[in-house]
Amino acid sequence: MLNQTNVKLGKVRSSIRELFEYGKKRKAEIGADNVFDFSIGNPSVPAPDKVRRTLIDLIENTDPVELHGYTSAQGDYSVRKSIADELNGRFSVRLTADCIYMTCGASASLTVTLNALLNEGDEVIAFVPFFPEYKVFCEHAGGTLVPVACDGAFQPDLNDFAKKLSGRTKAVIINSPNNPSGVIYGAETVKKIVELVKGCAQPVYVISDEPYRELVFGEIEIPFIMNYYGRSIVCYSYSKSLSLPGERIGYIAVNNAAEDFEEIYAGILGAGRALGFVCAPSLFQRLIAGCAGQTSDLSVYKANRDRLITCLTEYGFEFAQPDGAFYLFIKSPDGDAQAFAERAKKYELLLVAGDSFGCNGYVRLSYCVSPEMIERALPAFKRLADSYER
Ligand code: PLP
Repeated sequence: MLNQTNVKLGKVRSSIRELFEYGKKRKAEIGADNVFDFSIGNPSVPAPDKVRRTLIDLIENTDPVELHGYTSAQGDYSVRKSIADELNGRFSVRLTADCIYMTCGASASLTVTLNALLNEGDEVIAFVPFFPEYKVFCEHAGGTLVPVACDGAFQPDLNDFAKKLSGRTKAVIINSPNNPSGVIYGAETVKKIVELVKGCAQPVYVISDEPYRELVFGEIEIPFIMNYYGRSIVCYSYSKSLSLPGERIGYIAVNNAAEDFEEIYAGILGAGRALGFVCAPSLFQRLIAGCAGQTSDLSVYKANRDRLITCLTEYGFEFAQPDGAFYLFIKSPDGDAQAFAERAKKYELLLVAGDSFGCNGYVRLSYCVSPEMIERALPAFKRLADSYER
């Protein structure tokens, strides 16, 4: 018999992917302009022109054997050095190239990290609402995901966190700006999380999954975990900040202030090897080094957020105020997320039922779409709101 865990994972898509596939089918049936696809976090803003120019330059002026060859398993040295330098400059840490491990995006950063850290039966804490793949990644690495509740503003419920920490806790995942709520955890929250983690008898690792680090609206500072806690690991991706989700490029940064830094980094190298990653895409590693500090034009997402907040509030929908990422987590008017998402489909609005994010009664709207699509979708949202008797 085949490995039934994997067979099942292959047969039942994530709710996000399921809706994304439905959207493709529906667009073929009634025309792309008539479907309002808010299902997936696929950036609509193109990568900056610097990406195009750097790629052309790399292709035209680098020895192709070198450009397309394997790099070191952990990534090209000069690429890792440029990332370490950037992080040191921004966050006053003292990382070296040997703290960085290049990956195929945040998903790979997370799977490699979890496989490096976990033994069978270990627990990993995540704050709801959380990216549903965390559960898949944890369980595949032999662990169990333990959800911690949130308060009404989608901030971690620290009393519940204190209760859920146990002798089996190996790691805690923080995701801020958050997918799907868009909220940011402030410095006080991070300090309290760290304080509680430090109270554990065994070493507990804090993993900061931050593909939305640059997607912040306004002058809000996102605490950088390494400034608060030694045993910390950052999982980063260029999928969102540089609009490169299909190219699969990101990194893991291990805090060299961790007492067991050498062990962690070795575990990451070992996990990456065992999972068959070999090395992150060579061309895109070099591209990243050439585009340090660049982002796509993220102002589009802020404009989308503002427009949606104004209109959806006017129509009577409720959600937490998002300060970052590009999602709205909307309360289902009758408390049933599945029914809400199904009803939205009747108006060709594709919203993901949020139950798999660990938080019942909400749907996720991904607004990394074109402003034109939002304008076309607004009447449908109004009709959806009106369909509920209030
Ligand atoms: N973590 C979070 C919170 C995400 O929202 C996503 C993607 O949407 C990922 C990880 C995976 O990102 P990547 O495409 O870089 O693998």
